[in-house]
Amino acid sequence: MPLASIMLTVGIAMLQGARHEHMHALLKAAESINIEINIRELRKSSDVDGIDAIILPGGESTAMKIASRSEDLFSGIWNKIRAAQIPVLGTCAGAILLSQQGLIETPIVRNAFGRQKESFQSAIKIDIGSKGQFPGVFIRAPRFTEGSKYPIAWLEKEVVGVLEGKILALTFHPELTEDYRFHAWLLEQAMQSD
Ligand code: GLN
Repeated sequence: MPLASIMLTVGIAMLQGARHEHMHALLKAAESINIEINIRELRKSSDVDGIDAIILPGGESTAMKIASRSEDLFSGIWNKIRAAQIPVLGTCAGAILLSQQGLIETPIVRNAFGRQKESFQSAIKIDIGSKGQFPGVFIRAPRFTEGSKYPIAWLEKEVVGVLEGKILALTFHPELTEDYRFHAWLLEQAMQSD
């Protein structure tokens, strides 16, 4: 039996990219911390009303911007994040958009690993509450160009994840692994803000 009487609603931007993998990871994370959640598929700007947390998946940031135009989803999302300060998990293209919007101050460069290393997997170190290793999956990943004042994940010495306020931006794809700690982090943050 789930513990929670609070039912969290987590929005996922449904424009393009790895959306269903995030849904699966969220459900697994909810199970691991014994809470029930609603997942809301965000397709138009009014869909953000009442959400407690948001996921911006990876994919192609340019394709996402184009797909967002018809229903103006992104304006709704950026306004919601600015106004309500809900916790955010942005992965890869999601991290690019957060930086381009100035929602995180760490600068980022797209497709920055070069051809040979375009996509790869490597163990990384993370520190989100507890420290440990994490399976890093990098797909045409961006890079934080100037490091960051707020690092929470490292590939060797390079910063690959930052936490600025309640916004977690990762250049890798936790939703493509079976390690649900980042998704659990998002849910725990949302519960604390309730
Ligand atoms: N290369 C993509 C972009 O520039 C990001 C890659 C990803 O999300 N896996 O938007």
